[in-house]
Amino acid sequence: MTERFDLPAGRLETRFSDKAPALSESEARREAARCLYCFDAPCIRSCPTSIDIPTFIRKIATGNLRGSARTILSANLLGASCARVCPVEVLCEGSCVYHDDGQPPIAIGRLQRHAMDHGGGPELLPRLNAARPGSIGLVGGGPASLACAGQLALLGHRPVIYEKRALPGGLNTTGVAPYKLPAEDALEEVESILALGVDLETGVEIGRDLTAEEVLARHDAVFLGPGLGPDSRLRVPGEEGPGVLGAVEWIERIKNDASYSLEGITQAVVVGGGNTAIDAARELRGLGVETVYLLYRRSAAEMGAYRHESDEALRGGVVLVEDVVVTEVLREGDALSGVRLAEAQGGRATDVEHGVLPTDLVLLAIGQSKLVELARSFPGVEVDDRGRIVADPATGRTGNPRVFTGGDALNGGKEVVNAAHDGQAAARAIDELIRDGGPRG
Ligand SMILES: Cc1cc2nc3c(=O)[nH]c(=O)nc-3n(C[C@H](O)[C@H](O)[C@H](O)COP(=O)(O)OP(=O)(O)OC[C@H]3O[C@@H](n4cnc5c(N)ncnc54)[C@H](O)[C@@H]3O)c2cc1C
Ligand code: SF4
Repeated sequence: MTERFDLPAGRLETRFSDKAPALSESEARREAARCLYCFDAPCIRSCPTSIDIPTFIRKIATGNLRGSARTILSANLLGASCARVCPVEVLCEGSCVYHDDGQPPIAIGRLQRHAMDHGGGPELLPRLNAARPGSIGLVGGGPASLACAGQLALLGHRPVIYEKRALPGGLNTTGVAPYKLPAEDALEEVESILALGVDLETGVEIGRDLTAEEVLARHDAVFLGPGLGPDSRLRVPGEEGPGVLGAVEWIERIKNDASYSLEGITQAVVVGGGNTAIDAARELRGLGVETVYLLYRRSAAEMGAYRHESDEALRGGVVLVEDVVVTEVLREGDALSGVRLAEAQGGRATDVEHGVLPTDLVLLAIGQSKLVELARSFPGVEVDDRGRIVADPATGRTGNPRVFTGGDALNGGKEVVNAAHDGQAAARAIDELIRDGGPRG
């Protein structure tokens, strides 16, 4: 249990075991000894935060776990969560040279976890002792803001994060699959960042409790890291009512809400073909739901989910139904009874009726909306035609010289490691701006 944040006992997520369990000391050393310490290592190039992977692995091999953790954190302050949640199969491990010989790649993610579990946290990093002038406010307490705020603290600032939920951590706390990272461990990482000298105000929603003008009046610079908005809806008859939930909203319940139970649910459908759909389907199966259908409007080959994740879901008993769309949610009185399906062509419904699938639960994983209104409430901040905040990708600077951004709000929804990278890049740009005399000067 973390010292500062209370998570209720009995949450459904606690029933999952670790997908990639921690290595023992001898296993870690053995695996580290396999690394070839490649020149111009491809694993570094495929890490969005460019962690010096061969160096941190070498330090594990020589028993220097503190040094190893320091190497990781100096490139990525969220090294602990990234070790657990990164899709390493398509990033660092995916590019390991061992693949060329048909051998298993170095287990970089698990080695990184070993270093982070035993080597120490961001307190290991050097910090500037002189306090910097100026005040910085961050909107949202997810990975992007945490990385930004942590980096700012190391540079001598004392930033403040405004988080609308009771718990910080963003999707690391509320969304990431429990078999990768339980909320408890996500919150431990948050604590380690706050301990660098970051203030946190939870239960404060910008746009409701404080306006953009008020935030800009309080601070010299602002970082927007609110992530994405609520799950998208199907807009079909019968959808509004009990038993139909957004997948991200549902995952938050199993991770954080001890009062939520799946009692009486034996058959469920998940609509979508991306990573969130796959996660939700695997989590339903993992929680004992007997029959889980994944309904996708195109073919399996066109699914947006990572192949290794969708293969795992199918091996775990999830039943994929391709080329279908839900045209109606069926109810008996108020109660959910099933979904009506039609054949899809190119992702759209044809007139051919496909049938009715009885279900006790429908999870919608067809994307998340964008927080366009919030972004535009900051003068000078613009969004593109896909709802992403427009900013310089190198610094996160928006059309308002005092407002920066990063993470899902900027990239439309990628990974934790991208949010970490953006947050740290924006922190350096904000520090430069404030050192140059401040934007308001
Ligand atoms: C179901 C799911 C599973 C995922 N699994 C993985 C995975 O396994 N590996 C991986 O690398 N990535 C995964 N991702 C993606 C990853 O979680 C995100 O890319 C990352 O969390 C983005 O960080 P962020 O800080 O931009 O946004 P978020 O994590 O969404 O954090 C934003 C924070 O801002 C707060 N906020 C929003 N609006 C306001 C406001 N107006 N005022 C105050 N606070 C506000 C929110 O409450 C939230 O805490 C997953 C995403 C989902 C949806
Ligand atoms: S590519 Fe593989 S073997 Fe080479 S340095 Fe990276 S982890 Fe080690």
